[in-house]
Amino acid sequence: MRTVALHSLGCKVNAYETEGIQQKLQEKGYLIVPFDSRADIYIVNTCSVTNIADHKSRQMLHRAKKLNPEALVVAIGCYVETGREVLENDPDVDLVIGNDRKMKLPEIIEDVSTEQSPRHIVSTEPSPRHIPLTRTRSFIKIQDGCNRFCTYCVIPYARGRVRSREIPDIVSEVRDHVAAGCKEIVLTGIHISSFGTDRDGEEMIPLLKELNTIDGLRRIRLGSLEPAYVTPEWVGQAKEIDKLCAHFHLSMQSGSETVLKRMNRHYTPEEYYEKVCMLRDAFDDPAITTDTIVGFPGETEEEYEETYDFVRKVGFYELHVFKYSRRDGTPAARMPDQIPEREKHARSEKLISLGKELSLAYRRRRIGTTAEVLTEEVRDINGRKYMCGFTPEYICAAVSPENPSNTLITGVLDELLTDETVTLK
Ligand code: SF4
Repeated sequence: MRTVALHSLGCKVNAYETEGIQQKLQEKGYLIVPFDSRADIYIVNTCSVTNIADHKSRQMLHRAKKLNPEALVVAIGCYVETGREVLENDPDVDLVIGNDRKMKLPEIIEDVSTEQSPRHIVSTEPSPRHIPLTRTRSFIKIQDGCNRFCTYCVIPYARGRVRSREIPDIVSEVRDHVAAGCKEIVLTGIHISSFGTDRDGEEMIPLLKELNTIDGLRRIRLGSLEPAYVTPEWVGQAKEIDKLCAHFHLSMQSGSETVLKRMNRHYTPEEYYEKVCMLRDAFDDPAITTDTIVGFPGETEEEYEETYDFVRKVGFYELHVFKYSRRDGTPAARMPDQIPEREKHARSEKLISLGKELSLAYRRRRIGTTAEVLTEEVRDINGRKYMCGFTPEYICAAVSPENPSNTLITGVLDELLTDETVTLK
């Protein structure tokens, strides 16, 4: 059996995509192994959000070749768009696959592996139709690109302007996944709040309504949302979509008004908090998750403390903390008062620890409530086997291992098995 090791750098979108690619490869019979072991194929989903991200992407590719000089080393992701030439000339990289061909990766790997010597592939062909899959959760990319130009981000340059897929095309893909057994979909993209804005405007609600009618599909999860996008009208319509999970990743980046301004994010912490309250009023204690950047240029101790206090005030279920690092070509890279690495590290550690505390508080708060878990796989926890899955709020819940996977089980969240897992009775 051929072994594949995958590594994802950067944002949540990359992590989601990597998980999707991994599942496709598993279904094709590949064995997934840890990245630091010897594998036949290494796939690095690169990131290009900063110069350091570029560097780390190259490092991971080189590391892969060192681990097994005979392996096929594949680069995908944003750095392929910004550093294509560097990668094409890198002797350690065998395959360079553009974002538009990424989902076709398993087929491309199969084609290339049968050749005597691998060759570089950089394609600009339109995205191929996704292949139906059999799994619990499928990741459906509904758009690409972003028009926002946050001052720290290279994505609008790397991935271009917003391009949304057609609703019938998405619906048909979801139907294929459901026919193959999938019960939950996650709508992903670079900026899904912009879905449809490259055509006539807001199209997310029409899409959700249509997906909601698909028999056999039980859950729809949103990858992430922009605060400005969440309005009373949107929330009013969204809460009527009964398959929509009460899990909202509401992009924040900073809890300081002045830092948000320098980031070119068009909201204040107060406005952000209003959106959180809207979601909490409409849904039953939804899971609110977010990303935050610490050490943005000029971030004073006071501004950092504002973020820290704001994170506590919101009470996020999950907090992804990123240390700011420069990205050439972005306005933030030229801003004065770059924060020393040591200081960024200290700020990040403190916030990560707050994030863990809040996450645990949310799980604890949910104990005693009724929840529905969609089972996924058997895991070994504290020396015992459990069938684990996730609730709509993305709480990892454990039931007895005799339960089959890909099944919805309703019960009461009982007790913490670990800080991350709750039993369901
Ligand atoms: S919204 Fe901002 S951070 Fe997100 S992709 Fe667009 S420019 Fe980048």
